[in-house]
Amino acid sequence: MLRRMASNGPNISRQLRSVLDRINAAAQRRPEHLQKREPRLVAVSKTKPVSMIIEAYACGQRHFGENYVQELADKSIDPEIREKCKDIQWHFIGHLQRNKVNKVTGSPGLYMVETVDSEKIAQALNNSWGKQSASEPLAVMLQVNTSGEENKSGADPKEADKMAFFIRDKCPHLRLAGLMTIGSVQSSTSEGPNPDFQCLSECRKMVASALGVEEQDLELSMGMSQDYERAVEAGSTNVRVGSTIFGARDYPPQQSNGTPSQNSSDNPSASSQASEKSGDTAQKCVAKDTPEATANYLDHLSLGT
Ligand SMILES: *Cc1c(COP(=O)(O)O)cnc(C)c1O
Repeated sequence: MLRRMASNGPNISRQLRSVLDRINAAAQRRPEHLQKREPRLVAVSKTKPVSMIIEAYACGQRHFGENYVQELADKSIDPEIREKCKDIQWHFIGHLQRNKVNKVTGSPGLYMVETVDSEKIAQALNNSWGKQSASEPLAVMLQVNTSGEENKSGADPKEADKMAFFIRDKCPHLRLAGLMTIGSVQSSTSEGPNPDFQCLSECRKMVASALGVEEQDLELSMGMSQDYERAVEAGSTNVRVGSTIFGARDYPPQQSNGTPSQNSSDNPSASSQASEKSGDTAQKCVAKDTPEATANYLDHLSLGT
C-alpha cells in the first residue's frame, strides 16, 4: 500500500536514493588520487518540517544540515526526533555569530560546524565546547570564500593556512576536519572545471602542507543540489544537498534583525543570483590585482610554502 502522506510532498525516499546513486556514480569517475574517501551526503533540511527529517532518517540518512541557529536548536531537541532519530548527526552550515555559539554547541547530536570563518568564531566555539567537558573535540570546517563575492561569508583563501594554525594551536577543543565553500552560481553553471572547487582544493593543498598532514586527512565540503555530482568528481567528500531531496524551499519573510534571509550565506543561491558578477572567479579566488601577484600566489599554493 502506498502511504498517503507521500502523495503531496516530494517522494523523499526516491529522491534520496537517486542522489545517493548519483554520488556513487560520480565517485567512480574521480581520478585515482581522489578515491580515498567515500563522499558523505548531508541532507539539508533547513525550513523543512520535522516529519521530512524523520522520513529521510527512516530511509537510512543520518547526516542533516541546518543553517539557522534557532532552527537547529529547536529541531535537535524535538521530542519526536530525539525518539525516532537517535543516531542523527547534525551539521551546522549557516553563518555563525559569537553570541549564538552556545546554542549551536548545546544542540544534541551536533556532529560538525562547517562554517568557521574567523579566529573569533573559532575561539568562541572552542571555549563553548570546552565548557561542556565533551570528551571529543568538536569537528569544524574552515569556510573559505572562494568566489570573492563580497556578500559571501568565508575566510580569504590567502588566510586559510593562518586560520588552520590558529585552530590547531589555540583551540584544543576543536578538530579541523576540512575546508568548506559555498561558491557562486556562475561557477556552478559554467562549462569546464568549477573555479570554486579548484580554489578550495588548492587551499586544502596549502593547508595540508602548512600543517604537515596528508591532503586526504582534510575533507572538502563543496557541492549543492545543482552541482554535487561535479563536486564529487572534483574531490568533494561532503556534499550538502537540500532542495533536490526535500523540494524547493519557501523562505521566511525577510526581517531586519539579523534573522534568516538577511544573511546572504543563509540562502546561497538566491544571494549569488542577486550579486554582481564579473570576471573570472578563479582570479577572484586569489584576490590579487596584477598578473604577477596572481602567478606568485599560484606558485605559493602549489609549492605549499
Ligand atoms: C541551503 C544550503 C545548501 C543546500 O542547497 P540546495 O541548493 O537546496 O541543495 C547547501 N549549503 C548551504 C550552506 C546552504 O545554506
